[in-house]
Amino acid sequence: MISLTTLGCSGSYASPAGGACSGYLVRAGDANIWMDCGNGTFAALQRHINVADLDAVVITHTHPDHCVDVYGLHVFNKYAIGREGLAVLAPKGAREQLGALISGGWGDVFDWNTVADGDTTKVAQASLSFSRTDHPGETLAAEVATADKRLIYTADTGPKWSPEVFGAGADLLLSEATYLHNDVRAPIHLSARQAGELASNAGAKRLVLTHLWPTVDPVASAAEGSEAFGSVVSLAAPGATLHI
Ligand SMILES: [Zn+2]
Repeated sequence: MISLTTLGCSGSYASPAGGACSGYLVRAGDANIWMDCGNGTFAALQRHINVADLDAVVITHTHPDHCVDVYGLHVFNKYAIGREGLAVLAPKGAREQLGALISGGWGDVFDWNTVADGDTTKVAQASLSFSRTDHPGETLAAEVATADKRLIYTADTGPKWSPEVFGAGADLLLSEATYLHNDVRAPIHLSARQAGELASNAGAKRLVLTHLWPTVDPVASAAEGSEAFGSVVSLAAPGATLHI
């Protein structure tokens, strides 16, 4: 069984309604994974799990809306609970790039692991796979799988990448859908229509849209995504947990 709790899902910057940026708590079998730690998500994380029970943190890319709460976790682990060696899985260079803000460096608080396109690894009983997306700066989509369930998270991507690379028929596809199709401001993100089309082509059983630009009408986004997907889509919502 896999559960997905949305800690924050605001696209690119925090929304005025208190919406944090990208971050999810994924429980897969016995693994507790914090998937992206965008601004505002550490506060939300603490409402859903004892932080000491985390098994790994995944940083899909180093754009701030996906990673800056790693600093809060660093302080918490170092000074609040004295924990060392928590696994962080991130693209090449993330440790150095993000470490520039840490006087004295990261120390032994985290066990930094570089992951890249095509890599697979295990976190407890969960299997993780990564795929380079269509987004500037090395950005990695992630699949989290147990023996019988598969969750795919697109991270940020433009339309030249497809979740099909992980294989068809994922139980749940968590896809970015930053824009409405008539107002795509930069091709480094998806519209809700594109997200629906990609999900349909990949045979996803269920589609959840996330990373909506804060001014996008969520009702319109869900309608556009549902039409393209061919079935009703869900919108990620802070605090909500889905079980697959
Ligand atoms: Zn983003």
